Amino acid sequence: MRFDVITLFPQVFEGYLAASIPRIAQEKGLVEILLHDLREYAEDARGTVDDRPFGGGPGMVLMCGPVFKAVEDICADKPGGELLMLSPQGERFDQRLACELAGRERLVLLAGHYEGFDERIRSGLQPHEISIGDYVLSGGELAAMVVMDAVIRLVEGVLGTGESVKEESFSGGLLEYPHYTRPRDFRGMKVPEILLSGDHGRVAEWRAAEALRRTRQRRRDLLGKDRQKEPEGEPDNK
Ligand code: SAM
Repeated sequence: MRFDVITLFPQVFEGYLAASIPRIAQEKGLVEILLHDLREYAEDARGTVDDRPFGGGPGMVLMCGPVFKAVEDICADKPGGELLMLSPQGERFDQRLACELAGRERLVLLAGHYEGFDERIRSGLQPHEISIGDYVLSGGELAAMVVMDAVIRLVEGVLGTGESVKEESFSGGLLEYPHYTRPRDFRGMKVPEILLSGDHGRVAEWRAAEALRRTRQRRRDLLGKDRQKEPEGEPDNK
């Protein structure tokens, strides 16, 4: 899978790309990530990419010329793929959308800054606008990394075992069950006996029940209408 990221701040991505799952995915050759500096597509020698808004008001607006040129140039060598614009006004990003995007061969991500994009970039390029939540970030770089990270770990072969993705929160419509590791007793807080029993069937049942209990307590909105009426059950610390 290939990602092309158009940004004013390519350096922001360096630490993220050099660590953990994104680094492993690139080293395995499963994912290719190319960073493109929007200033290189400026139409003047000074590298201008933004200008004051018509009608007045604060801030600067990203201009059509450099963004159209960047998208057209980058897509020319390898057409297809989906253009994603990071925007607080976009479709809310979630695990379902991450799964959908993980099925694409190529994603082109457009990170904004300042007041955002000239409206004609939306109407002319018709990107899929994506928001990572109802708050306003200074730029689309963090949002692009959130989207890439959630998508990359779903690309086949990236994680050691496909099972860990299947059982994670949201994948099966529920939050995931709780995890424990050594020691068995930490300051009097004990690991549930069932996890030490070696009985895989009972462990699986316990985990399924815990996932449901946790979802009822924390995110009833994830449950179907019928299940939302069921009682919450014991709180976490019981
Ligand atoms: N003036 C815009 C508004 O009120 O809708 C906000 C612009 S914001 C300061 C600058 C850039 O950050 C946006 O163009 C977008 O790329 C990115 N951004 C900010 N919040 C975001 C969010 N919640 N999700 C995705 N991208 C976001």
